[in-house]
Amino acid sequence: MTGIVFDPVYREHDPGPGHPESPSRLDAVWKGIEQAGVKWLPVPARPASEAELAYCHTADYIRGVRRDVASDVGCLSTGDTDCCPRSFEVARLAVGGVLNAVEAVINGRVSNAFCAVRPPGHHATADRGMGFCIFNNVAVAARALQRHHGVRRILIVDWDVHHGNGTQELVNDDPDIAFFSTHQWPAYPGTGRALETGAGAARGTKFNCPLPAGSGRHEVVGSFDEKLVPAMQRFKPEFVLVSAGFDGRRGDPIGGFELTDQDFTDLTRRVLDLARAHAGGRVVSVLEGGYHLEGLASAVAAHVRTLSEA
Ligand SMILES: [Zn+2]
Repeated sequence: MTGIVFDPVYREHDPGPGHPESPSRLDAVWKGIEQAGVKWLPVPARPASEAELAYCHTADYIRGVRRDVASDVGCLSTGDTDCCPRSFEVARLAVGGVLNAVEAVINGRVSNAFCAVRPPGHHATADRGMGFCIFNNVAVAARALQRHHGVRRILIVDWDVHHGNGTQELVNDDPDIAFFSTHQWPAYPGTGRALETGAGAARGTKFNCPLPAGSGRHEVVGSFDEKLVPAMQRFKPEFVLVSAGFDGRRGDPIGGFELTDQDFTDLTRRVLDLARAHAGGRVVSVLEGGYHLEGLASAVAAHVRTLSEA
C-alpha cells in the first residue's frame, strides 16, 4: 500500500499574504489525496534532528535559519525565502516526514510513499535557502539512505518545472546518486544546462533536460523515455526519490509548461516501472512546487492514484 505523509502542521509555515507557496496549497493537496479515492497508510511527521539536517547543510546555515526565523524578520538572510516564526520547526518536520517515509518503504510497511510536505526543498543548497525552499528534503533523504539503510545507488527524478539546483549541487560529485531533471529554460534559477552532467568521478550521472516554455507531454514524457529509461538501465538505482513539483501543469501561474493530469499519471508510471525493474519498486515522492490550486489538487490525485496501483 502507498504511504502518505500528511500533517496539518505543514500549514504553519506561512511566507506571508499573497505568496504563491501558501498554506492553502496543503489544502489543495489534501483535496487531491481525497479525490484519488484510494486506500493509503498514514506515515507520521517528525522533526529532523540538526545532525540529520547536517547531512546536507552547514552548521552555520542551520544556525542562521534558526536565528532569522526567531528574529521574525520575515525572510531568510541568505535570500529569497520568506518565513514566519514557525518556519524553522515546520521545515525540520518536512525533512523528518520524508525520512519517516524512506524508513517505512525500507521496512516494507508501505510499498511506496508520497510526502505532502511544505516548505519545498529542491532549491536549497548546503548554505543557502532559495526559491521558497529552506532545507533540501530530498537530498537529506538520499544521504540518510546511504548512511543508515545500506542503499548506495540512488536516482533522484525532479519533474518540477524549475531546475533542482540545490539538489544537483549537493550530489554533484557523488557518482552513486543519479539526478534527472526536466525543467523550463530559460527560467529561475538559471541552472540546469544539458552540459551539467556531474563533477569528477560523478561525470555522466546528472541528466538535465532544459525545455522551452510551452513544452508539454511530447518534450517532458519524451525526455523520460529517451534519456532517463536507457540511462537507468546502465545505472541501476536501488531506490528512487522524486522531487514531485506540479508547477509544470497547464495553468500554473509560475510555470510555463502544458502538462496534464494524464501526463503526471504517465510520469509516475515511468518512475514506478524503473523502480520495479531496478529498485524493488521502492519510490518516495516529495512535494515541491505547484501553485494553481485546482491544478495541484487534480495532478496530486493522478499521482497518488498511480502510486497506489503499483
Ligand atoms: Zn518549481
